[in-house]
Amino acid sequence: MKVQHNLPLADLTSLRVGGPAATLIELESDDSLPTAVLAAEGPIRVLGYGTNVLVSDKGWPGTIISNRSGQIRVEDDTITADSGADWDELVRSAIDNHLWGLEFTSGIPGGVGAAVGGSIAAYGHRISDRFVSAKVLDTSNGGIETWDGNRFNFGYRRSDLQLPENSHFIILKVTFSLSPSPTGELEYESALKAAADLGLAPDSLENRRRIILEARRRAGSLLTDQNQGPWTAGSFFKNPMVNEAQVDAILSHDESGISRDQLLRQNVIHGGDQARVSAAHVLLAAGFQRGQAWGKVRLHPDHVLKIENVGGASAQDIYNVVQNIISTVKQKLDITLEPEVRFLGEF
Ligand SMILES: Cc1cc2nc3c(=O)[nH]c(=O)nc-3n(C[C@H](O)[C@H](O)[C@H](O)COP(=O)(O)OP(=O)(O)OC[C@H]3O[C@@H](n4cnc5c(N)ncnc54)[C@H](O)[C@@H]3O)c2cc1C
Repeated sequence: MKVQHNLPLADLTSLRVGGPAATLIELESDDSLPTAVLAAEGPIRVLGYGTNVLVSDKGWPGTIISNRSGQIRVEDDTITADSGADWDELVRSAIDNHLWGLEFTSGIPGGVGAAVGGSIAAYGHRISDRFVSAKVLDTSNGGIETWDGNRFNFGYRRSDLQLPENSHFIILKVTFSLSPSPTGELEYESALKAAADLGLAPDSLENRRRIILEARRRAGSLLTDQNQGPWTAGSFFKNPMVNEAQVDAILSHDESGISRDQLLRQNVIHGGDQARVSAAHVLLAAGFQRGQAWGKVRLHPDHVLKIENVGGASAQDIYNVVQNIISTVKQKLDITLEPEVRFLGEF
């Protein structure tokens, strides 16, 4: 366990911004999170692989635990992993053991803990559908609890672990139940197109993984070489809930020529007149453009939802662009955008 003081957190995040943690504890392979918590001072936050976080330039006044290692164990149809294990390695282990259910989340960067806390999903498949339980540490008293799906109360890119009143809980270990026979279908147009182009049928685990990785590569959704920029935390905003009138407003501003059907097909329908629409279309309809830049911060030239640090941006620069986007979208379309990326520290 490596304990350091006043070390900038920028290098521990995929956006490469963020000030120092008063104390930074980096876990190594044999270290345990509960032991690190005992050595912590002040308010504690855990970071996984830093791919979904915007750390303030002021840093963090207490202890940051960097948790990037852990074991993955497969037993029959069950897979259990420490929260610091790499998510894609877990998916790989499932595939190597001929277990279905997580293959559509191949290539999502980050660790197992944040994957569960943030309820990750891709190509129409949510990992919460395969979740059984997690061991969770209460850092306020050192107690370890078992949380099931009800306790997490998973939703679209959220769980109750993210509520401010639960910020003293840390995920230690997670268990998923997988299937020895095929589950789910490949439905997404972009993935079906990748399958056709590769000449692969999505009927084996290996093929599904290759198709998804290719679809993600085309969508700019693989975390590429971290030694060079631009740096990103992936899609910055969640797909917002909208009503019929707001769908009309998006279409009336949209210049991409998308039809109502196409726009709604991308949605997760939640009943009534409420649906989610792709946040990317919302940004375009509000007048933002691919490649648009504000100093060292820009929107990805192909994928407008990915906010990038092209090199030398501060966390506040990124935060200001985020606030500009949120207020412009509210003003022009009366849609409330919610960041998917988590903020850490004071802005
Ligand atoms: C290129 C790119 C593509 C992406 N594609 C997708 C995608 O397809 N689908 C998707 O859902 N997401 C996607 N993401 C977002 C990201 O991969 C996920 O949110 C991932 O789960 C983040 O993991 P992490 O370890 O990097 O989390 P971090 O950024 O380290 O942390 C994120 C949050 O989780 C908390 N946290 C971390 N570990 C724990 C723990 N053990 N206990 C409690 N809290 C914890 C942190 O405090 C922080 O609030 C993408 C990101 C990038 C950069």
